[in-house]
Amino acid sequence: MGDLPGIVINGASGRMGRMLACVVRESTQAHLIGALERPGHEWVGQDMGRAMGEAEMGVTVSDDPLELVARAHAVIDFTAPAASVEMATLTAQARVVHVIGTTGFDEAGLKRLAAAARHAVIVRAGNMSLGVNLLVQMTKRVAAALDEAFDIEIVEAHHNQKVDAPSGTALMLGEAAAEGRGVLLDHVADRGRDGITGRREQGHIGFAAIRGGDVVGEHDVIFAGAGERVILRHVATDRAIFARGALKAALWGQGRKPGEYDMIDVLGLPR
Ligand code: NAP
Repeated sequence: MGDLPGIVINGASGRMGRMLACVVRESTQAHLIGALERPGHEWVGQDMGRAMGEAEMGVTVSDDPLELVARAHAVIDFTAPAASVEMATLTAQARVVHVIGTTGFDEAGLKRLAAAARHAVIVRAGNMSLGVNLLVQMTKRVAAALDEAFDIEIVEAHHNQKVDAPSGTALMLGEAAAEGRGVLLDHVADRGRDGITGRREQGHIGFAAIRGGDVVGEHDVIFAGAGERVILRHVATDRAIFARGALKAALWGQGRKPGEYDMIDVLGLPR
């Protein structure tokens, strides 16, 4: 146990935090050494397993990131942009692998992550599943193969607790489609259509978001041409896929050169 990489979970009480605790507990390649929540959270001071309503895990939920990061091999972080950026300062100081699943970063946040990645390994992906990362690569290729006569629309569905839109995965898919077409997503993205929007512009990439129930995550990339449509689809039915991907990234990052990486690197998929 002592020789296995020690993992700290940031955002322990979150949907992903709990899932990560279960996945790390079952792993034979890593062990859980800490779980973080913000000061004042009711889980702080409780055993992680007990707080989840399960058997004791032997890890007490803490609100002291400094102490935990100093002992960690990797921090796995599915929280909120502000929390992940703050954590990146600590993981950079401690030269600890930081796996970031959080989505919704703005430009300023991304810059601070890039600065932190000069000192530590950061693996960040809007979606940590194997299937979605394959879908990203397929999207890039299909977008390159089909010209602008095919309109690209990305439709995603998520549970009713999600706070950002489009999803990080939808944006990854949009980036891939734009790259396949040799354009910048910022120049062609149509987000949030409402009212009299005018006709669709050729070459644009549209986004639409559905929110409801407990949908884990569904993404369609639609290439709509005259008389035919190609639809690439990924459906996630279990959050464990993201947690398993994140743990894989945490292990993969050990001993790597500092820098920013993504799941295409971790999974070794061709670019
Ligand atoms: P969630 O259930 O709302 O959990 C978020 C966790 O982060 C909670 O424990 C929350 O603590 C904590 N947190 C939020 N703001 C914080 C702050 N400023 N400081 C410290 N802790 C903070 O959300 P989730 O469904 O687990 O998702 C979390 C993030 O991961 C989202 O950005 C989501 O889009 C992303 N996600 C990514 C993937 C992927 O594969 N990359 C997959 C699923 C989800 P409190 O309860 O105290 O607020």
